[in-house]
Amino acid sequence: MPDRPRPLPADLEALSAFSAPGPGVTRLAWTPELRAGYDWFAGRCEEAGMAVEIDAAGNLVARWEVGEGPALVVGSHLDTVPSGGRYDGALGVLGGLEAVRLLQAWGVTPTRPIWVVGFMDEENARFNTALFGSRAFCGDDLSDLGDRTDADGVTLRDAMAAWDRTPEGTRAAARIGEVGHYLELHIEQGPGLDLAGAQVGVVTSIVAMTGYRATVTGQANHAGTTPMGARRDALSGAARMVLAIRELGRERPHHTTNVGVMSASPGSSNVIPGTASFTIDLRAPDDDAIAALDADCAARLRAIAAEEGLELELERVYAMEAVPMDPQLADLIASAARDEEASAVAMPSGAGHDAMVLGRHVPTAMVFVPSRDGISHSPDEFTTAEHCELGARILARVLMRLTIPAT
Ligand SMILES: [Zn+2]
Repeated sequence: MPDRPRPLPADLEALSAFSAPGPGVTRLAWTPELRAGYDWFAGRCEEAGMAVEIDAAGNLVARWEVGEGPALVVGSHLDTVPSGGRYDGALGVLGGLEAVRLLQAWGVTPTRPIWVVGFMDEENARFNTALFGSRAFCGDDLSDLGDRTDADGVTLRDAMAAWDRTPEGTRAAARIGEVGHYLELHIEQGPGLDLAGAQVGVVTSIVAMTGYRATVTGQANHAGTTPMGARRDALSGAARMVLAIRELGRERPHHTTNVGVMSASPGSSNVIPGTASFTIDLRAPDDDAIAALDADCAARLRAIAAEEGLELELERVYAMEAVPMDPQLADLIASAARDEEASAVAMPSGAGHDAMVLGRHVPTAMVFVPSRDGISHSPDEFTTAEHCELGARILARVLMRLTIPAT
């Protein structure tokens, strides 16, 4: 293949300039910064001969209108968290365009349309409307979310109006019926590839998640007059539970457990805590694994509660099934990595992505490239230009295999 210039690193750099002031990149959903980034990216897609529209849910859809039949969609998101990095989401969208340009440079004429999509509000950083664009794209009814407000009291309805969009109108964005396959390139956002010295992650599933609010009840009493052996200390019991939850995650590969919020009451230095409450986040690679982790967690916490003379209440606040990635598409990614002489490892995704929405409707796969030191959602987020370009070449190779089946 002839040498060509390196537009992807330059594109990542250019897009990062579309940001609210402050450290890192801040390009929240439905803001002027995001719109300016869209307009810039639309121009880049048009230079590559693609037709661009911003759909009714604020997704940027760029279509290379070639061939016929269900579209091959490559996508991710262009919104960021506050003071985020320049790679999370952006790499998947800009890398999709780069894959189109590579196919064009290689003289490949696809037999099926190829779309590059930037989904609106993947990050959930403004209106508590995570995965808004991909959900609308897949036909979810989002018309009742208009009254949600951001930290400044702006409603989603008003923010959408600035883009000439309405919550009720998002139904028109449902286009999953025109889609054959979905591919997403993303930075890993964890240290797994970096630690393993691997260049590519072939995602096997997006993990199942279960969340609880745990409330531990003992007896509030005087801290100075109640003998140590006679206490029913809710916070000490909860502390044992937190450590047990950590052990549950450490015992199992590719599982994670987290306690992120904790409080005790009545909350005085001279009173034994009568109640303690905390959150639990459990994640596992598949549905059987989360069920086993869930059962084990409940059993261990109840055993601790009994030993400590405490009552325990577990309220489930969320439960999401794992989304398995398509094995055949994953094989194509692994084989593309081999063709690139890149080292690849199979791994689950511990974070949610637009692929978890699309993956419930069409064969879906994800490619991860390394995040330096596993850092993400931070101005320090970094992936080398070589790894970004490798990811785009893998996308291009998979698209080539899907559009021109081997004979
Ligand atoms: Zn992302």
